[in-house]
Amino acid sequence: MDKLKISISGVRGIVGETLTLEVVIDFARAFGTYVKSGRVVVARDTRPSGKELKESIVSGLLDAGCEIIDIGIAPTPTTLLMVKELGAAGGIIITASHNPSMWNGLKFVSASGIFLTKPEVEEFLDIWRKKSFTVVSEKKQNNIEKIDSQDVARRHIDKIIKHINTDVIRRKQFTVVLDSCNGAGSVITPMLLEELGCKVIEINTEPDGLFPHTPEPVPENLKQLCDVIRTKGADIGFAQDPDADRLAIVSEKGECIGEEYTLALATQFVLKKKRGVVVTNLSTTKAIDDIAGQFNCEVIRTRIGEINVVEKMKEYNAVVGGEGNGGVIIPEIIYGRDSLCGIAVILQHLAESGLTISKLTSTIPQYKMVKRKIEYPLDKVDTLLEKIKDEYKENPINSEDGVKIDLGDSWVHIRPSNTEPVVRIIAEAPTQQRAEQLCEDIKKLGTS
Ligand code: MG
Repeated sequence: MDKLKISISGVRGIVGETLTLEVVIDFARAFGTYVKSGRVVVARDTRPSGKELKESIVSGLLDAGCEIIDIGIAPTPTTLLMVKELGAAGGIIITASHNPSMWNGLKFVSASGIFLTKPEVEEFLDIWRKKSFTVVSEKKQNNIEKIDSQDVARRHIDKIIKHINTDVIRRKQFTVVLDSCNGAGSVITPMLLEELGCKVIEINTEPDGLFPHTPEPVPENLKQLCDVIRTKGADIGFAQDPDADRLAIVSEKGECIGEEYTLALATQFVLKKKRGVVVTNLSTTKAIDDIAGQFNCEVIRTRIGEINVVEKMKEYNAVVGGEGNGGVIIPEIIYGRDSLCGIAVILQHLAESGLTISKLTSTIPQYKMVKRKIEYPLDKVDTLLEKIKDEYKENPINSEDGVKIDLGDSWVHIRPSNTEPVVRIIAEAPTQQRAEQLCEDIKKLGTS
């Protein structure tokens, strides 16, 4: 059986197996203790298991003397915004993001409306491990305030619209096909698109958490979306993961343009308006460097994990950032990956360019990315990484998160998993064949 996965991004497990109500209640008690019995925003994605888990979260927070603001079903970025705007002490989001429905999990938000940083996670997990919970003698049942999901959605949309030229988008009257995977983006996203004057063709926007396809918004899961775009002659298609922080784009030809290009297009749009630092993780497409180079802007690379990107964005006062998996961060709106911000900036970019989305994408240098996984004993990983470094010692190497080798027009990034005996290899090159070859070369070092 898989273990409960605990990382900087939160907790994830299989419901009823590793993620039980007892486990969840302890995490809530620990978080309530960590935020010193303050006000906590609680939200969930649409997974059916979320309902019961939320009751345990609420109960654990009440045990710790917290006040609760229940915002119902809400996307992860919306919750980040609400924690900040309501001046809460923190937030808990019940979601397993892009994982299939038997999974669920918890993401923890700090008072600043961003995920807990590494030292904060450590402090919080220390309370959880030692079970050194604050316990109040009497739970105050009237400590729960509910805010309607529609009102919450409205606040998020208003915040986005303030930073977008809605007129330019409205004039185009785009036909947009939306696949929210019946997740937390199902209600708010059509609201946003209609506000932007789009004709919206909705597929999979029932917020019931019954996922119509494997939820990760990668090409093999978006066939239905591609078909509908073709038959309806739509201008663009958008796909979200169940907690609506990731965004994938499908072209007017019904072709997936690849999640890496969501951030690339957003970066191109932002830098056109405002020059500044771009922050992204080590595994994100090199197209970001090419775009930033065209505008004479600097790119800062970080370890994998949204909070690592966000922390560097704050440090460098970045104008845009995010992760290649379709995670766009527009700092004036929300310091977190937000598919709705992504949709708004992509539509404005598309409208201002006067091009089709496939033509607009072709203005960005094209690379092929290949991802592989090899089983490898955890205790031997360090030796393997040293061997790789030695093999490529002539090339620039970054060792902040595994080993990333810069090969000029291509790169390969080797990252050991923290939780399983697996090493991930990601390579990017101008051609598919070259990217595959790079992965093979690394695999060979792992077996020789
Ligand atoms: Mg997600």
